Amino acid sequence: MCIFCKIIEGEIPSTTVYEDDKVKCILDLSQAGVGHTLVIPKKHFANVLEIDEDTFAYAMKIAKRIAGALVKTFNCDGVNILNNCGEAAGQTVFHLHIHVIPRFFNDTVDVKWKDNSDAFDPKKFEELKNQIVKNL
Ligand code: 5GP
Ligand code: ZN
Repeated sequence: MCIFCKIIEGEIPSTTVYEDDKVKCILDLSQAGVGHTLVIPKKHFANVLEIDEDTFAYAMKIAKRIAGALVKTFNCDGVNILNNCGEAAGQTVFHLHIHVIPRFFNDTVDVKWKDNSDAFDPKKFEELKNQIVKNL
């Protein structure tokens, strides 16, 4: 059983902020920011590519609710709702979960990427779009 399945089963203790028949929301052991919460579907899916759309949509709905609660509770300046899919994207626990991270101006959380907008090429964008559309 994976670590999050064990948490869901109650075999490993966790601090639960919300739970229903489909999801369990717990405080992340490593708090990126105070109140950093994980929304974890109870059914095991490795990642966002594996999960069915309805379960993912439900988990995102709860993530939105958690985000609102974190803003109300901690009066933060913003929130990141994010999912890491695959090792290359930073996933370390291979049971899908959504991070809800309170953000403050000048905090230490880093989810930025380099600004490449000066390389914008309309022709390249058209090609990229056509490639993606074929696989939707
Ligand atoms: P990922 O890197 O896969 O997107 O996120 C995994 C997250 O799970 C990490 O932020 C890590 O701190 C958290 N985590 C790993 N093990 C445990 C645990 O046993 N309990 C809790 N509450 N969080 C955990
Ligand atoms: Zn699992």
